[in-house]
Amino acid sequence: MKLKAPVHTPDHADSYYAATKNWQTDYPQLLDHATYDVCIVGGGFTGVATALELAEQGYGVAVLEARKVGWGASGRNGGQLIRGIGEAPEQFVNQIGQEGVAAIHQMGVEAVEIVRERVRQFDIQCDLKMGYMDAAIKPRQLADITDNYVALKQRNYPHRLLLLHEQGVQEYVNSKRYIGGMVDMGSGHLHPLNLCLGEARVAQQLGVQFFEQSPVVNIIKRNRPQVITDKGSITCEFVVLAGNAYLGNLEPKIGKKVLPAGSYMIATEKLEDHLWQSLMPNDCAVCDTSIALDYFRLSADKRLLFGGLCNYSGRDPRSIVSSLRPKMIKVFPQLASTAIEFQWGGMIGIGANRMPQIGRLETNIYYAQAYSGHGVNASHMAGRVVAEAICQQSRRIDTFARIRHMTFPGGLYLRSPLLALGMLWHRLKEAV
Ligand SMILES: Cc1cc2nc3c(=O)[nH]c(=O)nc-3n(C[C@H](O)[C@H](O)[C@H](O)COP(=O)(O)OP(=O)(O)OC[C@H]3O[C@@H](n4cnc5c(N)ncnc54)[C@H](O)[C@@H]3O)c2cc1C
Repeated sequence: MKLKAPVHTPDHADSYYAATKNWQTDYPQLLDHATYDVCIVGGGFTGVATALELAEQGYGVAVLEARKVGWGASGRNGGQLIRGIGEAPEQFVNQIGQEGVAAIHQMGVEAVEIVRERVRQFDIQCDLKMGYMDAAIKPRQLADITDNYVALKQRNYPHRLLLLHEQGVQEYVNSKRYIGGMVDMGSGHLHPLNLCLGEARVAQQLGVQFFEQSPVVNIIKRNRPQVITDKGSITCEFVVLAGNAYLGNLEPKIGKKVLPAGSYMIATEKLEDHLWQSLMPNDCAVCDTSIALDYFRLSADKRLLFGGLCNYSGRDPRSIVSSLRPKMIKVFPQLASTAIEFQWGGMIGIGANRMPQIGRLETNIYYAQAYSGHGVNASHMAGRVVAEAICQQSRRIDTFARIRHMTFPGGLYLRSPLLALGMLWHRLKEAV
């Protein structure tokens, strides 16, 4: 196998996405003191989506990004835009009631619509394509997928769903690994870095001021909070914390509730037409439903982008390619001699109960984080509910704020190994 040297980009992590981004951002560093209505910490989907929603309502917004817009998980992920928010909102019925459960289901559909509508309205070039499949490896998983299919139908899910058994699955994914699955035409896939950069450009045109290379080091909490970077500061009416898995210890109260876990991806060389058409003729995105899941899809230029390996231990694998390639070949032995041209990883913000953490830290400090690997859609919904709360247009944020989130035991240093042990237990149970 011949691995090309990754394309060097000094700003975004070396990846297929960085090598194919539509443009290079060049936002200034914050070098003095300024005043805005709202200051957002973090320039990923959460920060950019919140900024865009607020700018549409006429707010003066600044986004402070430690590195580059889209530098974090938003510019590195699998690009799978999948319906739903969190795992089974029903489990929180005692905290949010049936109304809250229904609201979260509804927002799980709205979240995808926000992205689709934004891409359409502003003509954002990000290769958006609809079509996604949950794939089952084991009968138990197919039973869960079938239950989910029935539940979605009962809730009048507004898009086409197709429940498949082995024969049908192979029309979508030509792999012997799967015994069934569900195709959802209301979910899909896209180039996440180009979506993030495109949304930032729209937000900028609406008046949002982005600052890059401007890490926030402190927030002075008071009537009008002051957000301090290493070289400047912003005084504002509201702060939104959108640093997710990369926020670190800036706000320990929420930092302790999110665990940064590594997820990794590889991209093959461009596949010949006959090859990709035989592997995934419908060009849909795929996730299996294991705890340590594989996720994959074709890029617009027809490479296979294959991801997996959620790493709770806090340590990156020694070689991403050597860890992921065997998994890819297990799905598609047809790719045994295909070259891998890109490899990269990023941090997912995991919450203990897998439900996004969206709420208020103080009356004028909001946060949204911990989408647990399912954040392309959910971060956009979070942006909308936080903006609605700031504009006092709705109280949808209260549904999320009522959900209790556990602090990970073990403090900053022991929580990753402890969770790694816990996850190992779940994987063993699944294997048995
Ligand atoms: C490899 C991988 C694959 C994934 N695949 C999928 C997928 O296919 N589908 C899906 O739905 N989800 C997926 N996810 C998850 C998804 O990418 C995230 O949930 C989502 O991008 C989170 O967006 P965010 O804006 O909250 O965080 P991020 O995109 O991580 O952005 C946070 C930003 O905040 C900045 N920041 C942090 N602290 C500070 C500070 N003190 N000052 C200034 N800036 C700061 C960081 O530099 C960073 O740019 C994946 C994640 C990874 C890593």
